[in-house]
Amino acid sequence: MTVHPIGVEVTCDGPGEQRDCPDSAAIRAGFGSITARQVRADGRSDGWTVRRAPGRLLDVCPNCRTHPTP
Ligand SMILES: [Zn+2]
Repeated sequence: MTVHPIGVEVTCDGPGEQRDCPDSAAIRAGFGSITARQVRADGRSDGWTVRRAPGRLLDVCPNCRTHPTP
């Protein structure tokens, strides 16, 4: 049986706590990026940011980052 690593999908958590990302954006993982840490590293080069929240991390796409919650 062949195992195909599907990796992880890191999606945008939106501009705010109660708001969804209007684009439903997800980081395009680079070749060989399997873990969330690796995919986030790919995202950073595309302008994604990671915000710390209690107990978890919020991934924010470049679009949401530039249009924060008022
Ligand atoms: Zn977004």
